[in-house]
Amino acid sequence: MKIGIDLGGTKTEGILIDNDGIELKRDRIKTEKNYEGTIKGIVSIVKQFEKEFGNSSSIGIGMPGAISSDSALVKNANSIWLNGQPLKRDLQTALDRKINLENDANCFTLSEAVDGAGKGHAVVFGVIIGTGTGGGIVVDNKVLPGKNNIAGEWGHISLPNRTDNEKKYVKECYCGKNGCMETYISGPGFASVFNLKNNTDYDSHKILDELKNEKRTSKSSF
Ligand SMILES: [Zn+2]
Repeated sequence: MKIGIDLGGTKTEGILIDNDGIELKRDRIKTEKNYEGTIKGIVSIVKQFEKEFGNSSSIGIGMPGAISSDSALVKNANSIWLNGQPLKRDLQTALDRKINLENDANCFTLSEAVDGAGKGHAVVFGVIIGTGTGGGIVVDNKVLPGKNNIAGEWGHISLPNRTDNEKKYVKECYCGKNGCMETYISGPGFASVFNLKNNTDYDSHKILDELKNEKRTSKSSF
């Protein structure tokens, strides 16, 4: 049996599968937005699974950000309470065994490459657009890590050939640079650009709802 855990900023979800990949159990809890609470949450999921089904042979965790090859500490996580922490070491101590940690976008892309939308392709680029903008690259069914273990990270690459309007209606990115992809196409980024342009205060869902309403109205007027 194997345990996989998706560690998100809002929720932590665990799944227990048998050796044929059949799902035995799934559990989802709210992520506590602090370091100790996050570890406790992961441990509670593992303990619950193992109490019911016995010991698992491996634990893999998809996480935001990456483990630095130099310091073994977490970096680049938008769940900022993880940054600078020895997450792998502390989880291994808490669970008393070796665990595997990998950037969540790399996990997603590998999954799509093995048996999803990218199956049968040599090079697969996976894109995640949500609260942030991230991605992963998989070559021949192996994650391409790059120097920073997140080679497919494209959210903080600048939008190319920006027009004057694109330069005008965007906020500076939290990374300290200007014009990052994430500030245009993540949910909050898209909303922020819209609001600056139209002098509104909408979130991304409200903008899409309004667009749908507008379409409906313009249809009925024909
Ligand atoms: Zn940035």
